[in-house]
Amino acid sequence: MKIILVAGTRPNFVKIAPLYRAFLQYPDMHPQIVHTGQHYDFHMSGIFFEQLGIPEPDHFLGVGPGSSTTQTAEIMYAFERVIRDENPDLVVVVGDVTSTFACALVAAQMRVPLAHVEAGLRSRDRTMPEEMNRILTDALSDQLFVTEQAAVDNLLRENIDPRRVHLAGNVVIDSLVHFRGRIDDFPADLGINAGRYLLVTMHRQANVDHETGLRKIAGMLETLGTRWQVVFVTHPRTARNAASFGLDFAELVKTLPPQGYLEFLRLMRHSAAVITDSGGVQEETTFLGIPCITLRNNTERPVTVECGTNYLLPDFDAQKVRDTIEIVLSGDFSNRRVPPLWDGNTAQRIVNILREKYINS
Ligand code: UDP
Repeated sequence: MKIILVAGTRPNFVKIAPLYRAFLQYPDMHPQIVHTGQHYDFHMSGIFFEQLGIPEPDHFLGVGPGSSTTQTAEIMYAFERVIRDENPDLVVVVGDVTSTFACALVAAQMRVPLAHVEAGLRSRDRTMPEEMNRILTDALSDQLFVTEQAAVDNLLRENIDPRRVHLAGNVVIDSLVHFRGRIDDFPADLGINAGRYLLVTMHRQANVDHETGLRKIAGMLETLGTRWQVVFVTHPRTARNAASFGLDFAELVKTLPPQGYLEFLRLMRHSAAVITDSGGVQEETTFLGIPCITLRNNTERPVTVECGTNYLLPDFDAQKVRDTIEIVLSGDFSNRRVPPLWDGNTAQRIVNILREKYINS
């Protein structure tokens, strides 16, 4: 069985690594990696292949920067050639980025069985590009692998055949569990104190693609910086946009460029709390039991709020974030739970189901 695993962005690399390893255990399964090139520089891409132990991609589509529409079109055009040349038995897409949807559409049009890993998540905010990608990819997929019960319910509400929906757990947590033993060392050279600092990441379009949002973030960093040590790991999109408006976050708090996977997990593991708009970070903090404040009006991952350590803060301003951190830092998370099946074995469960469906049937 020839399987094409699609990845294009940083969070995708984290998700395909455990799947790639799980497929490799079977001599009759032959995974290939297609990298669309959506994230392409070393700090957002190459370092993840190195650290996650996945080989160089079999195909690099080299799409590079551009609008979502341009990227979708370029990825589709290039991916169609890959499918024609390789004639795979299965395409696996992960997450909710442009590459996910673009390759899903090509697979569906070319009648190649399609699996979506991390299906069913819904923010119910159609202004998010990711939400569009999720809905469209799920509508096209033959097998839908889901991280939490709410996502199963979403899919059933959308009339997806229940026989295609599999509550399998979370491959983001598979990667975290795999590297759990390597993130205890505290990065002593950063001039911050273990367990005392706030770790911040922001990169969602709704927060960082306009001056008002960036100024709001700057105001928040300034306010937090008067009270706590703050480490702001800047996403390239955030840094680029901030520079275009003449904003320099480094004047306000300690900033760091995008971090390698292990470096970032270490920073997360030793922080007092995390402030973010990232999807994956909400899940990783839930698993690690680190308080997380999510600066968004919604989350497509409600289980992280219901049983994890995630605290959703809509319409944030600096004072609201500061007050919420006071509450969260003195909060009691002893009732928190790790969601069911977030145990490090999700990729294996997914591969078992795929074997049942396509090899043993
Ligand atoms: N991450 C990383 N380095 C960083 C920031 C994040 O390795 O500087 C990891 C993080 O641990 C998680 C993933 O990247 O596994 C999340 O990616 P991102 O926040 O870019 O995307 P999202 O999850 O919001 O789609």
